[in-house]
Formats: sequence, structure tokens, C-alpha cells
Amino acid sequence: MKVLVINAGSSSLKYQLLDTGSREVLAKGLCERIGIDGKFTYKAPGKPTVDAADVTMPTHAEAIQAVLAALVNPEGGVISSMGEIDAVGHRVVHGAETFACSVRIDGKVMASLEECVPLAPLHNPANITGIKACSKVMGPDVPQVAVFDTAFHQTMPPVAYTYPLPYEYYEQDKVRRYGFHGTSHRYVAQRAADMLGKPIETLKLISCHLGNGSSIAAVSGGKSVDTSMGFTPLAGLPMGTRSGDLDAGILEYLMGRHGMDIKEMVSVLNKKSGVLGVSGVSSDFRDLCAARDQGNARAALALDMFTYGVKKYIGAYAAAMGGVDAIIFTAGVGENDAQQRMAIASGLEFMGVKMDPDANNIRGKEAIISAIDSKVKVLLIPTNEELMIALDTAELA
Ligand code: AMP
Repeated sequence: MKVLVINAGSSSLKYQLLDTGSREVLAKGLCERIGIDGKFTYKAPGKPTVDAADVTMPTHAEAIQAVLAALVNPEGGVISSMGEIDAVGHRVVHGAETFACSVRIDGKVMASLEECVPLAPLHNPANITGIKACSKVMGPDVPQVAVFDTAFHQTMPPVAYTYPLPYEYYEQDKVRRYGFHGTSHRYVAQRAADMLGKPIETLKLISCHLGNGSSIAAVSGGKSVDTSMGFTPLAGLPMGTRSGDLDAGILEYLMGRHGMDIKEMVSVLNKKSGVLGVSGVSSDFRDLCAARDQGNARAALALDMFTYGVKKYIGAYAAAMGGVDAIIFTAGVGENDAQQRMAIASGLEFMGVKMDPDANNIRGKEAIISAIDSKVKVLLIPTNEELMIALDTAELA
């Protein structure tokens, strides 16, 4: 089946056309600056690449049209007509408690997606715009599927998702831990079971999605039982620019001292904090490693805080699950930064983690990076959210 996977942002749209049989990516690219001055990129193996500026894209509908035109283009295209696209899969950030799994989109689903908007006011409207643009351009007969970042974590028990706030905030306002990166955690957990040759139902896994945004999930028997992100993706670990968890009392104190309103404060927490805020250097781990290696103490502190944070979650989730069979590293930092992986795993020997430094000296490839006699296996698994979205879509379309 040929599935077009769409990840729509407010002014951008990432796309991939996948063949779910061969699991091959036939073409992929990005529409940026939608509604501004339109930038379009397109790549397909063995075909001329497109990298165009000033493409007319006033709305997401024109962006989808540009994607379809590139896909069927006799020179660089990979299909002969739009009819070859069997279905479209959309990444949707928030599915609230309504969506515990992926779903084929119809009028009722669209109404429920609208109801989720207050929970993700920055992301869900863009996802909805992407869905509407596809219906408009491709017509109502092409099946569309929504795959949610939050869905995998809907199996968390109340003890993990309830905040210690007055209970009516959960009942009336839906304030609870939702968790994000669910498609990534689900994908790597499945791959881990395959790599270990064991049924996922028998495994206790800790999945570390470490990128610009980072989250950790405790996956027991194939189900998410806890995760570090919360009501929003601001919670948990210190990230590229996000603070992660902190004492809520700090907000009032800093707002008073710096004359900030809540919007400014939250913007600091989302955009100026994390490893960027601590280091004052960059949100990018490569820049931080370079600065640390040149003796920058704050870059070193930021990296150490990140390592320490991940280590604490691993300990906590092993305790929560009553053990752990494997720890998974994925996403930009997890897949590429051997030093960071080593630093996180070091000191965990007491719980049966023993790394193999040679096996760990690898980037971006599936591998077992723990020693043969390590009780807890450590796995490097490149994430593939697009493939997961395409497979769900093929199943439901
Ligand atoms: P992601 O959000 O998954 O795309 O991850 C982005 C993060 O991965 C950035 O902080 C990058 O610096 C980091 N990253 C990518 N490649 C490397 C690398 N070779 N070494 C260290 N960090 C890397």
C-alpha cells in the first residue's frame, strides 16, 4: 500500500510517501513558510531533488498540491497519478482521553479533534488544517487516518497520570499527565522485542527518546505505564530549550522580580530554558559537547544535568515496573551521541547494566550496545514515527 504521511505544523508540512509492503520511503520533503513566502523541498532516491523558494503557498491546501505535483511529476516523481496514493496518515499531537489508538478520520472524529484543541492550542489546529487540506485537494474518497502522540500513553494507570491537585481539575478541566512521543516509544518498544526475540508482553522496557525534545517511557508488557512528559511537552527532563520539571513556586517569584506576565514566563520555560538556558551556548547537543570540550563549565553542567536527569528516570521507572529487561536509546541524541549514552549508563551497574564500549561506538543503526553478560540489555534503535504512522494507516484504511 502507498501511504502519504503528513505532519502539519502551523506554517510547515512534512511529508513522506511510503510503501508499507516494502517499508521503503519513496519520496519525502518539507513545505515551509506556508502563508509567507513558501519554501518547498522534495527528495526521492535516484531522482532530481527539488529545493525551491518563493513557491506560492498561501495555505496548507496549496502545500499539499505542491507535494502531489512533485510526486506525479514525470521527471522526478515516483507515481504516475494521485490515484496510486491509497491513504493518508496524519500525525496529530493530542488525542486527549478520547483517542487511545489510531483512528480512521470521519466527521465524528473531526468534531472530537476540535474538542481536543484547548489541550494543544499550538499543535492540534495545524494538524486539523492539514487534514482539511488533504480532503479538499484529494477528495473525500481517499481514506485518512489520525495517529496521536498521546495515544500510546493512554494505558497509564491513574496513579501515574493523576496530578496531586484538587481532583475537580482532572474531572472538569482534563488536567492530567498525557505524555507525548507515543508513536516513537511504541515503535522502538516493538523493535526492541523483535531484536531481543521475545514477546513484547513479557518485557519491561525503558524507552529514552532523547532529542531536542526528550521524554522517557516505562513500557511494561508492551503498554506505557508511565512517562516523563505531562499535561504538556514542557514536563520531565531538561530539554534543548524547555525546562522540564521545576518547582512551580519559582514562577511567581521570577514573575514578580522581572515584571513578567504568565505568557512571558511560560515562553521563558519553553524557549529559553533547558540546556540552552543553563549553558548560555546552544540548545544543540553537538554545540554543547564542543563547548564542553573547550572547557566551558556551563556547557558541561548542562550536559551533566541532562545525563543525571535521564539516569534518575531510569532508576525510577525500573522501580515502578519492579525491574527492567532493556533500556532503549532513540532520537537525535540517543541515536548519535555515544558519549552521552555511556555517561547515562555508567553507574547503573548495580542494577545489572553493563555497557560494551566498542558496541556503543556506533551511530544511527540498530544495535545491542550492552555487554553480552549484561543482565539488562541496552539497545540503540533509530526511531521511525513515519513508518509507524504509515503502518497504522494501512491497517485502518
Ligand atoms: P531530534 O530532535 O531527535 O532531531 O534531535 C536533535 C538533537 O540531536 C540535537 O540536539 C542534536 O545536537 C542532537 N544530535 C544529532 N546528531 C548528534 C551527534 N552526532 N552527537 C550529538 N548530538 C547529536
